Parts: sequence; C-alpha cells; structure tokens
Amino acid sequence: MKLSTAFLSVLPLVATAFASTSNHTVEKRQLASVITSCSEPNTVALTFDDGPWEYIYQLGNLIHDAGGRATFFFNGNNWDCIYNRADGIRYVYNQGHQLASHTWTHDDLTTKNWDQLHDTFWKVEQALQRIAGVTPAFMRPPYGNYNDLVRQVAAARGQSVTLWDFDSHDGDDNAPPDWQLRSEYGHLLWDLRPNNVLALNHEFNYDTAYNVMWQVVQWCNQLGYKMVTVAECVGQQPYQNVGSPQSGNWQC
Ligand SMILES: [Zn+2]
Repeated sequence: MKLSTAFLSVLPLVATAFASTSNHTVEKRQLASVITSCSEPNTVALTFDDGPWEYIYQLGNLIHDAGGRATFFFNGNNWDCIYNRADGIRYVYNQGHQLASHTWTHDDLTTKNWDQLHDTFWKVEQALQRIAGVTPAFMRPPYGNYNDLVRQVAAARGQSVTLWDFDSHDGDDNAPPDWQLRSEYGHLLWDLRPNNVLALNHEFNYDTAYNVMWQVVQWCNQLGYKMVTVAECVGQQPYQNVGSPQSGNWQC
C-alpha cells in the first residue's frame, strides 16, 4: 500500500521533468474545446459571421422581435472596421444577442504562428471590451479551419472554438438564391426536425437578412424551437467578464 502510493506520487514529478526538458510549448498546452453542435434540446442557435455590417440592425430586430436571441461572430477588419460599426454592436448586445469573435482579419488560422494567432484574437477582444465591455468566451475560426495550435491559443485566451452543424451556404462565393436558402432551412426544420441546430449564416448576405430569416424565425416558433445564443445552446457563459463600454475614437 505504502509502496504503490509512493510510486504514484512520483509520477507527476516525472511528467513535469520530462515536459520541461522537451518542447513544452507544443506538448503541454491545453486545447480549447471544439463545439460542433448544441446540447440543449429544442434549441436553434442562429449565428452570423463576418460582420459587423449594415444588416446587423435588421437581423437583431427580426430575431429579437420573434422572442429569440442570436450570436454574431465579428471580424475586426473585414467588410468594415469594427469601430465604425460600434453602434450596431451595442444595439444587438442590448437586445440580448451574443457577441463573439471571428478573429481580426479573415485569414486561415492554420497558416499563422503562435504570436500571429494571439494578435488576431487579442485585437477583437480589445474591440469588444471597448465597444460593449465584454470579453468573448466563444470564437469561430474563419472557414472553420483550425489545428492544435489554434486550439492552444483559444484555450490560453479563454475561448471555445465554435463550428456549426448546418451551413446555409449564404456565405459561398456563389450563394444560392433566397428561395433556395429558405428551402434548405425548410427541409432541415420540417423534414429532418433535429433535436437542435447550430446554424451558420453570414451577416453580409442581403437575402439572409431580408428574405430568409423572417421565414426561419417563423418556422422556429411554429415548430417549438427556442432561438438561443450559442452560449445558451451549450449551457455556458457567453463572456469571460462583463464590464462597462468605454468611449473613445478608435480606429483600425
Ligand atoms: Zn467568416
């Protein structure tokens, strides 16, 4: 008994010693969790990538007025500089929608090194802290591309890597027409009737904002799906901390 206890107590020391003499920057770091679907039943998490853009008000109002909440994965500098769209971000935040990170640029994160990854994460965190007073706990890698280094940086920065289980394809280079986008959602919700949905959409698509989402929220309500944030659909907190917005004349 004594022997085995003694042996076990030595193990962590051995592991630590090994790690410190090996390349511990690669070996030892924690990996962020990767969310590929919701866990709460009867939920639909509608997510909108690549903003902030001008359709943010339409999307925020539509889902809010239908009794739901959505999640926005913002870039820092993609369709516009995030600081030029601060009012829109505060607007949807005050409606209860979730603010999340899509990284500063829209680059493939698997091409970046440790420092470059921290930079593209950090600048969005700083922007959301300034604009809304929150530090996001969820991020989505552009194109859904990630590797272990991306997961290590995400973990170090307190963020879960968030993917999707339904792609509306509204962000494709040749996005389908609005009737087809509606039809895909119709098939998903009426025919497949999944337990829950984590849906990828794009904030810059006019059809999504004005010709598709009104139908989707109507169907969700008809079918008894609750429209929730990503944080709600996996039962986690949306932010690492919540403070007050700052004022300033920030630029990208
Ligand atoms: Zn994107």
